Amino acid sequence: MAYAKEVLHRAEARLDEARRQNELDCDRRISAIYEKLPRLREIDRELRKTSAKVYAAAFRGSESPEQAMQTLRQENLSLQRERDWILESENIDPEDLEREPVCKLCGGSGWRGAAMCECLRELCRQEQKKVLMQAFGAGKESFEKFRLDVYPERIDPKLGISPRALMKRVYESAVSYTKTFSEGSDSLLFMGATGLGKTFLSGCIARAVADKGYSVCYVSAGKLFSDFETEKFRLKEDGALTGEYMETDLLIVDDLGTEMTTQFTVSALYQVVNGRLLSGRPTIVSTNLPDSELEARYSAQIASRLLGAYMLYQFCGTDVRLLKKMESRM
Ligand SMILES: [Zn+2]
Repeated sequence: MAYAKEVLHRAEARLDEARRQNELDCDRRISAIYEKLPRLREIDRELRKTSAKVYAAAFRGSESPEQAMQTLRQENLSLQRERDWILESENIDPEDLEREPVCKLCGGSGWRGAAMCECLRELCRQEQKKVLMQAFGAGKESFEKFRLDVYPERIDPKLGISPRALMKRVYESAVSYTKTFSEGSDSLLFMGATGLGKTFLSGCIARAVADKGYSVCYVSAGKLFSDFETEKFRLKEDGALTGEYMETDLLIVDDLGTEMTTQFTVSALYQVVNGRLLSGRPTIVSTNLPDSELEARYSAQIASRLLGAYMLYQFCGTDVRLLKKMESRM
């Protein structure tokens, strides 16, 4: 799972803090016991010295590790006995004198070999959600809040079905897309006029997919293109700004068609759409342009990929205030 650098840095910083806090807690707990029972401190100090000596011997190769353990036990037998006796008579759990790492699975590093440990992954999930909340502003998009009743029930003669019935299909399809989301899921194309809930539904999917532990990046088409432009302008095509758009598990490009289209934006869009299709990473593009205009604006290659390789979600309705209504009722 490719989390954005920012998300990973924040999660790692939180894990560092948790590790530091855990060290402090252990210090405090163990010191309190030693304060009360100074003899226990002496014994532990003595035991550490012998174990260091024995391990050094094993390291030099004069003893095998098994022999070293055996010697250690022998050497410290009386100290160990005295220690056990103190712990028992003072009713102290031996574990209270151990330094437990903040995570037993990875020892608190956040990594198990090259794989991310569940402790760090959970922190990434939480940080990812914060980033999405910022992207969506108030951040209340969820499938439960998607309101079908704001779409007209009357049958549209052109469609032969009511917008509400059609949007119910779109909604159900989005829910099932999210439930079964995985690396390699389909890409989606949201088409329809402004104010019909495309951004809202993108937000619902973004949150639910992020909850499943995938990295999600939400960006408006305008911001996407300006980041590509900035990177090119700086002559530093190192991917610092745009790398995330290629790497994230799910990319959501909102409002395609509202930006100024130039040869540069067309080539950047091709890079994103084609690159992500080739690497099998799903993308959701939403646009208020009709299909005929997609080709006119962005070239036949891009239109054929969007219309051919993406799953089409057609949004409909007649009321441009639908979204506002929906928001005011949240
Ligand atoms: Zn861990």
